[in-house]
Amino acid sequence: MSGRLKVVIDLPACCGYGICAEICPEVYKLDENGIVFVDDVIVPEGLEATAKEGADACPQNALKIVPAGE
Ligand code: SF4
Repeated sequence: MSGRLKVVIDLPACCGYGICAEICPEVYKLDENGIVFVDDVIVPEGLEATAKEGADACPQNALKIVPAGE
């Protein structure tokens, strides 16, 4: 694994499907309106693949995983 990753959320695009949180609840949380948030944008070590899977599964393309330096 090369370097840390972070989550970038396009909040207006999130429609609250919650698929991200189903796939990777350790990273993606849902607020009381069902809209996604993260406690920390840095993806915890070991959760990179699952976080990516959750981001890729978003029907709204609201989530991106990028190198933490960006
Ligand atoms: S899967 Fe996408 S649209 Fe659904 S809650 Fe997650 S970020 Fe929002």
